[in-house]
Amino acid sequence: MGHLIPPPSPSPLNRPCFPYPAEDEHDPIPCLTPQPKPPKLPSNPSDMALLLHTLNFAANKHSFQRRKDPSCSPYINHPIGVSNFIANSGETDVVVLQAAILHDVLEDTDCSFQELQLAFGSEVADVVMECTDDCTLGGLERKRRQVATAAGKTARAQQVKLADKLHNVLSIQSAVPTGWTVQRVQAYFRWAKEVTDICKASNPTIAASLQDIYDYGTFVLDGMTYKCLPKEEANGSSKI
Ligand code: ZN
Repeated sequence: MGHLIPPPSPSPLNRPCFPYPAEDEHDPIPCLTPQPKPPKLPSNPSDMALLLHTLNFAANKHSFQRRKDPSCSPYINHPIGVSNFIANSGETDVVVLQAAILHDVLEDTDCSFQELQLAFGSEVADVVMECTDDCTLGGLERKRRQVATAAGKTARAQQVKLADKLHNVLSIQSAVPTGWTVQRVQAYFRWAKEVTDICKASNPTIAASLQDIYDYGTFVLDGMTYKCLPKEEANGSSKI
């Protein structure tokens, strides 16, 4: 059993709430404390060992980041949730699962592409790179590029995109980020749908979960319930 220690107190370098969804606000935070070095992987690791090694790496990289939900949940919950959606859809390709676990480390931590290549090989690093926005661009341009480039991405990257958006929209549904208006939430859903519609063939199970939300999903803001997408935008039938 491990030792329980209290969470570190907030400071300018140890911000308690990391914004989500990452597409909206980028605020990379370096990993501040040296983490214990993981043991070297054996030459032929099992899939299980590989995935746990990947999780350990991502957990260290995201260790001082928090989601912007009311409970400021640990950021690592997000990549774990994203990879879990993919695994539970029946996908067994370990490269996709590893890329899902790592999908935010280039955008949101001090991790470099070279570091990823060295740790996990080019196949995994390339998929993570495909899922990484150019952080020198503004938020609107990054959003536009996600739509414009989605069709040209590999099926592996498209799967990560689908699961990433599913986790983000579910997070917004369960708790709208502080300061967001109804219009901003619906604009997020509208944009998410544009991206995921392009990627849906890569993982029909996750795409179906998303379509269900676009068709019937609601969120609560200031005690009022709203549709995630107005009926005519949902592509769904008349069931709303
Ligand atoms: Zn993400």
